[in-house]
Amino acid sequence: MSKVFTRFEAENKKAFFYISPDLCKGCGLCIEKCPSQVIDWSTRIGVYGTPIVEPKRMERCTGCRLCQFFCPDAAIDILRKGKETPPSKEISEPPR
Ligand code: SF4
Ligand code: SF4
Repeated sequence: MSKVFTRFEAENKKAFFYISPDLCKGCGLCIEKCPSQVIDWSTRIGVYGTPIVEPKRMERCTGCRLCQFFCPDAAIDILRKGKETPPSKEISEPPR
């Protein structure tokens, strides 16, 4: 049986921001690294029982992808508009 990850998304003129609550462990590294102060703590609780993050000031996001690169758990995906195609909202693990 394959596991399905649900993702929440936000967007602005430049990018789509996707966050996977099943992967975020609430370390806060993305909040620290975002140069535009886009990301902040959410009221949602993730799979580890800790608050996850969300793009609370999405209008500031430039699509630089620093949050995606620094996230140790691959919980964030950034897609820049006009350059990449948005994925489906659910992603299945590949079969083993
Ligand atoms: S893509 Fe860049 S600007 Fe947008 S949330 Fe991530 S680090 Fe911040
Ligand atoms: S860096 Fe990744 S795991 Fe850490 S809080 Fe941000 S999204 Fe969650």
